[in-house]
Amino acid sequence: MTQSFANLLINWYNNHQRDLPWRNTSAPYKIWLSEIILQQTRVNQGLPYYNKFINEYPSVHDLANAPEDEVMRLWQGLGYYSRARNLHECAKSIVNQYDGEFPSTYNELLKLKGVGKYTAAAIASFAFNQAVPVVDGNVFRVLARYFCVTDDIAQPKTFTKFFNIAKELIPEEQAASFNQAIMELGATICTPKKPACENCPLAQDCEARIHHKQSELPVKKKKIKIKHRYLYYLIWQEGGKLAMKKRGESDIWQGLFDFELIESDKALSTEDIIYKIDTLYKDIEIVEISEPVKHILSHQRLEAVFVELKSTTENILNDNSLKYYTKQQIEELPKPRLIENYLTSKNI
Ligand code: SF4
Repeated sequence: MTQSFANLLINWYNNHQRDLPWRNTSAPYKIWLSEIILQQTRVNQGLPYYNKFINEYPSVHDLANAPEDEVMRLWQGLGYYSRARNLHECAKSIVNQYDGEFPSTYNELLKLKGVGKYTAAAIASFAFNQAVPVVDGNVFRVLARYFCVTDDIAQPKTFTKFFNIAKELIPEEQAASFNQAIMELGATICTPKKPACENCPLAQDCEARIHHKQSELPVKKKKIKIKHRYLYYLIWQEGGKLAMKKRGESDIWQGLFDFELIESDKALSTEDIIYKIDTLYKDIEIVEISEPVKHILSHQRLEAVFVELKSTTENILNDNSLKYYTKQQIEELPKPRLIENYLTSKNI
């Protein structure tokens, strides 16, 4: 069974794999970069970012030496910005602590910032052909269906169970191909909805197919709690410049730039917004209040209103980290997509 599972899978992969730039390399830098970009991102969305990063920073040294704002700017639009910060931190530590060479073992790779079990296994196997199985959503799905495993994959202990199943299956001398193949099968054939079992190399012995349980597997019980937030952005213009600030720690969009913000846990009426602004600032003229704009993040639902203001006497830059930026400077700043969309709508 072990031999035939791996053989069937690898033979299929050799004939059906998609041509992706990080597949034709064993360079750990490129593999690491692609894996970080592809965390929580579809291949089609991640591909242009991978190409941009490789063009801009052909080596880990180039990335390590780049200014953080520039790295964040290049990442803009991909979301989950902690990945970009960790990417940069990790590049610096590879250069400073590892002499510019990626460590070659799974355990050593796990010590790197932003590198979890999945990414460490991917680098160890793709770059160094170590027989460490990758276990991502695709692998969970293929194995859960093939062996009819009903454990809840949202439970941390289930990871170990699947890791051990894959460890039994992975051939020592073809670890990279096996890992690539099982992920590719999950991404293209054994998909979450309507898997193409008729084209699957594992169909004959697949328990889920035999017992018609594809839609029930894998089992995932955890519900994500969605938080609703209401954002009221205050926008000052002066001589064609806009007042913006860098976002601080322990919240979404850390290190990106947005405007002065009033936040509420419920939607405010126009009267409420005006009242709030009047109590916070003196001699302020409200120029325009936008319609609410909805913006969806993985665990948060945002509703943003943009309030354009004119200050007559008060210097609003006094007590906070706001700074005026020209249109050209704003283009260079890393910004959340919500802010980017607003600026585009205003031709800024
Ligand atoms: S036969 Fe169907 S359910 Fe089973 S592994 Fe293949 S695609 Fe997935």
